[in-house]
Amino acid sequence: MSKKIMVTESTMPPFAEYANEIAELWQSKWLTNNGAKTQELTQQLQDYLGIDHLSLVTNGHMALELALMALGVQDGEVITTPFTFASTTHAIVRNGLTPVFADIDPETFTLDPTKVEALITPQTRAIMPVHIYGNVCDVEAFERLGKKYHLKVIYDGAHSFGCQYKGKSLASYGDAVTYSFHATKLFNTIEGGAVVVRDDATKTRVEQMKNFGLADGVPVEVGINGKLNEFSAAMGICNLRHLDAAIAARQTRVRAYRKQLGAIPGVQVNPVQAAAEPNAAYFPVIFHDVDGRTRDRVFDRLAEEGINARKYFSPLTSDSPGIASRFTVQITPIAADYANRVLTLPLYPDLAISDLLRITAIIREVCGVKTQSVANG
Ligand SMILES: *Cc1c(COP(=O)(O)O)cnc(C)c1O
Repeated sequence: MSKKIMVTESTMPPFAEYANEIAELWQSKWLTNNGAKTQELTQQLQDYLGIDHLSLVTNGHMALELALMALGVQDGEVITTPFTFASTTHAIVRNGLTPVFADIDPETFTLDPTKVEALITPQTRAIMPVHIYGNVCDVEAFERLGKKYHLKVIYDGAHSFGCQYKGKSLASYGDAVTYSFHATKLFNTIEGGAVVVRDDATKTRVEQMKNFGLADGVPVEVGINGKLNEFSAAMGICNLRHLDAAIAARQTRVRAYRKQLGAIPGVQVNPVQAAAEPNAAYFPVIFHDVDGRTRDRVFDRLAEEGINARKYFSPLTSDSPGIASRFTVQITPIAADYANRVLTLPLYPDLAISDLLRITAIIREVCGVKTQSVANG
């Protein structure tokens, strides 16, 4: 029986590298509260992403909540996508806002700006698109909508760390972008995240709000505790050194997936977008079969082989009981259809190519496509 294959595997630096990085903490005994490691990682991430005004926080969910708080988005509606992780919608709801769900683009799986515009009302305060799977949202269209209707545009960039668009970091689009540095993400600090904003005043607001609303030790507004600790920052410093190599290894695997799956009738793979430099964080596949059962058949066959693909993102966040019972949710036919058809395949730098070929052979077999001489599993 071969090793179980999960949808992802956390990237970790060599143990000695991490041990060396944290050794200073036994001298400084400064473990959190914007310590030296946090400051160093903040600078490195700003350089890596080519932006200023980045603030490290405890996790990607906290980043979303803080972005809404710091930009003063309250008492109204936020138009967003239901085809995402629960966190995007929950951050809106936990800030006392009403989520309004618009449908997705069928090629990129990202929020469709024309569907968004149709849902704008006097109550709308912000648009929260997601660079889902690291795919680039229609950032120009969202910028136009933001300007035209005076709305904040906040990107959930949890999947998009390191992505470029038109030669610029994707982090430079929108009023705010948030990142998740969770253990399962492309770049991790064990748990962690970041908020990127556009000016000093907003960054100060984020920094203040993630530290109980304190300014010079005195509470000046109602805040929360969202600070990253030094051990996590040290993990980030180490992982960042290896990130480009990790992305390159992922890209090799994405190319292999494309080669094996890209030409199967009825199988839609994650798109290649013009002017975008992706991060190869995820490899989703949509099965456009007639009976609507191929996705589940592939999932089950992979599971039999100890291969754990994931039905990301299913169900839609608008269908979860906590949301559907509280709000009148919009019908989003494309997102609803895709939630039933999508499967996100295992992808990480150490995924053996022979295992990847086992995965694609199973998919080809379930889809009735012949595979010639693939490495035996
Ligand atoms: C992971 C994720 C989050 C939440 O990030 P955490 O670091 O786990 O809190 C938010 N949005 C999306 C799209 C995610 O995938």
